[in-house]
Amino acid sequence: MSITELTGLDVPTGLLIGGEWAKGNATFPVLDPATEEPLAEVADGTVSDALDAVAAAQAALPGWAATPPRQRADILHRAFVLMKERAEQFARLMSAENGKSLRDARGEAAYAAEFFRWYAEEAVRIEGTLMRAPSGGNRILTMHQPIGVSLLITPWNFPAAMATRKIGPALAAGCPVVLKPAEDTPLTALALAALLREAGVPDGVVNVVNTSDPASVVAAMMNDSRVRKMSFTGSTEVGRILLGQAARSVMSTSMELGGNAPFLIFEDADIDAAVEGALIAKMRNGGEACTAANRFYVHDAVADQFNQAFAARLRAMKVGPGLDESTDIGPLVNEETRSKVVGLVDGALASGASALLGGRAPERRGYFYEPTLLDGVAADSAILGTEIFGPVAPVVRFTDEADAVRWANASEFGLVAYVYTQDLRRGLRVSEALESGMIGLNRGLVSDPAAPFGGVKQSGLGREGAHEGLLEYTETKYIATDW
Ligand code: NAD
Repeated sequence: MSITELTGLDVPTGLLIGGEWAKGNATFPVLDPATEEPLAEVADGTVSDALDAVAAAQAALPGWAATPPRQRADILHRAFVLMKERAEQFARLMSAENGKSLRDARGEAAYAAEFFRWYAEEAVRIEGTLMRAPSGGNRILTMHQPIGVSLLITPWNFPAAMATRKIGPALAAGCPVVLKPAEDTPLTALALAALLREAGVPDGVVNVVNTSDPASVVAAMMNDSRVRKMSFTGSTEVGRILLGQAARSVMSTSMELGGNAPFLIFEDADIDAAVEGALIAKMRNGGEACTAANRFYVHDAVADQFNQAFAARLRAMKVGPGLDESTDIGPLVNEETRSKVVGLVDGALASGASALLGGRAPERRGYFYEPTLLDGVAADSAILGTEIFGPVAPVVRFTDEADAVRWANASEFGLVAYVYTQDLRRGLRVSEALESGMIGLNRGLVSDPAAPFGGVKQSGLGREGAHEGLLEYTETKYIATDW
């Protein structure tokens, strides 16, 4: 079945450069992770295509920056409406190329569209400030100007939302973009670019370069002084390489990197609520989320109760192809991701953990892994120090609040942490002490276009979403004057 028949969307497969769809000289396949069969062939962008895209974006910059904010807002709002109308088709497309269940994909389509709405609203609120200098000698006037051509690099785990979370604020601020989607999931990005054109985005303002050789193609753009901003979502490992490249032209960067979220359950927690939150924080997207709960620290007094209730819910989850309406957990995105999960679980079991549920990859075609709950995980187990990126929940028991906080903070990552307690003072005290950009306090989900999303330590730099996300695509100019 063609991708159009499968999804009901007309999905381009070329490169979008300066308003034209280019075929490129070669193609690479996009696989269906549930069958390991090719879904489509997409154009394989080269360094020269990437530099053409940068040139097209640069040419579009003066016009787009000068476009009245209300017009930019109207285009983004049309994109929001179109995406809501086609949410089901986008959900099917994401299930097909990423493997996620339709339920997760529907959630992502709705979430992704909201970034267009939020930034349509923010586009008309780019405000400056005016104050009298403390000396009284002059006025201080500030304004936010578009930073310029922006390179957007996205991962495969949220193929729509990670793109709209960058495109929305860049366009609102007046910046043309070159989007470089992940090679496992370029189709959603291409369909989004087609939708943005339909919404009225002028030629050259949104360009898309898919490639099977991200290292060379991205390095060429990072080395191009016309690119003034790079916004990356992906692994900390690749983030470090890009930060090094950005140093050469002192390019502004926003980095949304890896996570290793602790999920703390205190003895006074509402255990039913903690189980519901854990299901979302751990199993949304099959565990393939930077925000995924990676380490459960559960007070010894409630650990058996939590494990039992959580295991019952996990046992009821159906593993299957994402496009199957009854599936709760789809396949992982590729073989590499699955073998990493297999290695981490095997390692934890070998060092003394016990599997209360799951613990293996089912014997079937496709990159599947069973929902897994591990108890008695040693505090120094590798599984607690690495992003699992799969449906696996390791539980460590604690008896002392200070230990739980110390263990939670013993990580180079600091994206999100979850805390379950009914004692508000403890909840706020622990939230303040956790080294994390975001906290879910009695909540298993923190993502919201209206909230500043981002991490501390090696989880990233800068914030996406909220008003702060818009300011990442602006430069602040200060004028000293008087009258
Ligand atoms: P990845 O780092 O392998 O790839 C991300 C992007 O970088 C892709 O587009 C890829 O093509 C590109 N890339 C890969 N190697 C490159 C290189 N040498 N030079 C330039 N570009 C290169 O990450 P992934 O496997 O696609 O995504 C999973 C990671 O993303 C996880 O670590 C996850 O935590 C993180 N993530 C973070 C957030 C967040 O908001 N903090 C959100 C989603 C995912």
